[in-house]
Amino acid sequence: MLHRRLGRTGLDVGVIGLGMEHLTSPDTLVETVRAAVDGGVNYVDIMIWRPELQEALGVALQGIRNRVLLAGHLGVATHKGMYRKTRDPVECRQLLQDLLARLRTDYLDVLHITYVDAADDLDRVMAPSGVLELARRLKGDGVARALGMSGHSATTAMRLLESTDLDVVMQPVGLLDPSDAAKRELLHLCSRRGIGVVAMKPFHGGESFRLEEALSPWQCIHYTLSQPAVGVALCGVKSVIELHQNLGYLDAASEQVDFWPRLAEFQEPVRGTCVYCSHCLPCPVDIDIPTVLRLRAAAQDGVGDALRTQYGALGSPASDCVECGECTERCPFGVEVTELLGDAARLLEK
Ligand code: SF4
Ligand code: SF4
Repeated sequence: MLHRRLGRTGLDVGVIGLGMEHLTSPDTLVETVRAAVDGGVNYVDIMIWRPELQEALGVALQGIRNRVLLAGHLGVATHKGMYRKTRDPVECRQLLQDLLARLRTDYLDVLHITYVDAADDLDRVMAPSGVLELARRLKGDGVARALGMSGHSATTAMRLLESTDLDVVMQPVGLLDPSDAAKRELLHLCSRRGIGVVAMKPFHGGESFRLEEALSPWQCIHYTLSQPAVGVALCGVKSVIELHQNLGYLDAASEQVDFWPRLAEFQEPVRGTCVYCSHCLPCPVDIDIPTVLRLRAAAQDGVGDALRTQYGALGSPASDCVECGECTERCPFGVEVTELLGDAARLLEK
C-alpha cells in the first residue's frame, strides 16, 4: 500500500480507503473489512446506519482495531432501515455512543459532520450549541482524533472552512465530476491550509463503468489521487472481488492507470492548465513537476506552514530546473512548465 499524510491530522493513510455504503449484509461486511485490512487498507469510512451492520463492523475489527483508522459521521440516523440525517445535538451524541458501543471502541480517528451542503443547513450546524460545537467537545474529550465534514458542495465546504478549524474535508473527486472551478479552489485551499481531503465517489457511483467505453477503476483512482490535497480515495465496494480489483491499482503499469486520453470526454481541460497527469516526467534533475505545480497553484493566495512543509519534503526544488524543455515538449496540455516552476520557486523558496 502507498501511504500519504492526511493533511495536518498527522494520520498516515493508505491511498485506497474502504467505503461501506454498498456492503449490505453482515457476513460480506466482515469478510470485506478483514480482506481490506489484510490488503493494506487502513482508512475505513463508516457510512452505515443499520445497527446490525455496525455490530458486524465491531466483529470485523476484533483484534485489528489498532491497524485501522475509523472515520465516522456525526448526525447519521436511521428511519425504517434507511438513512436519515439529524442535527439534534442530543440525538447525535446518543447515536455516536451507540455506534462506538457496537464497534467496541471508545474513539474514532476522524469524525465527520455528515452531509453539509445547503446554506441553511450549514447555518444550523454552526449555530451556538449546534453540531459543530458538539463535534469540538467530542474532540476535546478524546472521542475523535480529527474533525471533518462531508458533503458535495465545494462552495459550502469553503464557507465552513473559512470560520472553523476542521482538519479534514470529504468531497467527491472523480474523473466524471464536472471540472468545476469551486472544486479546484477548494482543493487548493485545503492544500494551502494543510486540510486533508478524503475523496469519495472516485467511480461516480459506478457510472464510470457503465459508459459505452468504460473507464477502468485504476484510471479513476489515479485521477482522484492526482488531484491536490487528496490523501485517500475512498472506494465503495460490494464484495471482496471488487476490493481486490481496486487494490490491483497499486501494481498497475503506468499505461494502465493513465487517464488523460479520456479526460477531454468528461472535463474540458483548458489549454495551459495543469491536470496533474504526470506525462511531463521524468525530469533529468528529478523535479516532481505535477506536485510542484499543485503546490504552486495552492500558493497563489498565500503560503502557510503547511505548504512550506509539503514543498520542503520534495527531493528537488523548482529552482533546480535547468530549462532543458523536455517536460514542455511532453505535456499534452500545453502547460508552460518552466515558467510556472519559476513562479513556484519565487513563491515557495523565499
Ligand atoms: S505539466 Fe502537463 S504533463 Fe505535467 S502534469 Fe501538468 S498537465 Fe500533465
Ligand atoms: S525543463 Fe526543468 S523541469 Fe522540465 S524536464 Fe527540464 S529540468 Fe526538468
